Amino acid sequence: MPARSRPAAVMAPAYEHRDGYALIDTGAIRANAAVLAAQVAPAGLCAVVKAGGYGHGAPEVARAALDGGATWLAVALVEEGRELRAERIAAPILVLSEPPPAAMDEVVASRLTPTIYTRPGLDALRHAVGRAGGRPPFPVHVKVDTGMHRVGAAPGEAVDLALDVAADPALDLEGFWTHLAVADEVDNPYNTTQLDLYDHALDALAGHGVRPRVRHAANSGGALWHPRARYDLVRCGIALYGLAPDAEGITRPPVPALRPALSLRAGVSYVKEVAAKERVSYGLRYTLAQESVIATVPLGYADGVPRVLSAVGGEVLVGGRRCPIAGTVTMDQIMVDCGPGAEVRSGDEVVLIGRQGDQTITAWDWAVAAGTIAYEVVCGISSRVPRVYDHTWPGPPAGS
Ligand SMILES: *Cc1c(COP(=O)(O)O)cnc(C)c1O
Repeated sequence: MPARSRPAAVMAPAYEHRDGYALIDTGAIRANAAVLAAQVAPAGLCAVVKAGGYGHGAPEVARAALDGGATWLAVALVEEGRELRAERIAAPILVLSEPPPAAMDEVVASRLTPTIYTRPGLDALRHAVGRAGGRPPFPVHVKVDTGMHRVGAAPGEAVDLALDVAADPALDLEGFWTHLAVADEVDNPYNTTQLDLYDHALDALAGHGVRPRVRHAANSGGALWHPRARYDLVRCGIALYGLAPDAEGITRPPVPALRPALSLRAGVSYVKEVAAKERVSYGLRYTLAQESVIATVPLGYADGVPRVLSAVGGEVLVGGRRCPIAGTVTMDQIMVDCGPGAEVRSGDEVVLIGRQGDQTITAWDWAVAAGTIAYEVVCGISSRVPRVYDHTWPGPPAGS
């Protein structure tokens, strides 16, 4: 292995001594946004950057996605929207659930676009807009629940709310939207059921002469696999990060080429030879058949490495080879079986997610092994792991 230097500028100064980090390729985010924008045109692209940009870093992802052709951003929380405004990001920001009444002043002050689906929510927004005074009509998106039953007003109620918004000179019924429960299932007829209900609600509004300018229904699965669901705007999260909405999806046409943007890397912190028949880590569940080189890597379940991985054949990349996680994942560290006589030194690069040489481990590999989805894997990389952005990287990491 060539000598390897740690990234010069780790973005989280609280962890400048830590040799374990998530490397975020903002060029991949930009390219994915451009591919998605082209695929869904003339619909627009809303980059979903909730949960810290799915663990990638919200402001950095937002800037890269806007660069690549997204025109909207979406977040789950008012606080997430406020953070983007503090970073001087000016694009429209949709809050995907109705903000609590007490948050409406902040919504108005930060020029966030609220989703509304209750009467008390609409009243609280009206009062906040009234208090702020003297602005152009404040944009609102009303959400209709067409069958996922998470949030949103039932169709009749949503139409009534939307008509009230449209009739209020202080408000602008900019959007009317819904969310699909099984968009990642290409052939599931429930998608049609939901979109039919959505179209009915839009027709009811049109019957009153009300036509929201921004109709939207699709997440990544909807945008990629259900062209009918694209309407005026698609809300893409997972695809923007270069991951498919489901485990097999990446091979399913017509998915465009998307590049995973996140890799999880660390340096070996300690190496030793361990004799045959010795056992490794908590519970002594990993027994060496022969003497082997065991490397310790300073990332564990408190960083988002699923503890179950060691029990289901989890591997990492060392020196361009796939090596098994040796024994139980601990809170702060894992051990890796590099094999008999392996030439591994402290500081050598270990790739947990990403590419090294001609080998790749994906977030979906982890997810499938751990019985979850790639979304949870990338969102699960904890705040203790510094995010390093490609523009801070002094050169390509050794071995890739
Ligand atoms: C999270 C979310 C999205 C993005 O979903 P992906 O599958 O990641 O594209 C879109 N819309 C809503 C309402 C969401 O909550």
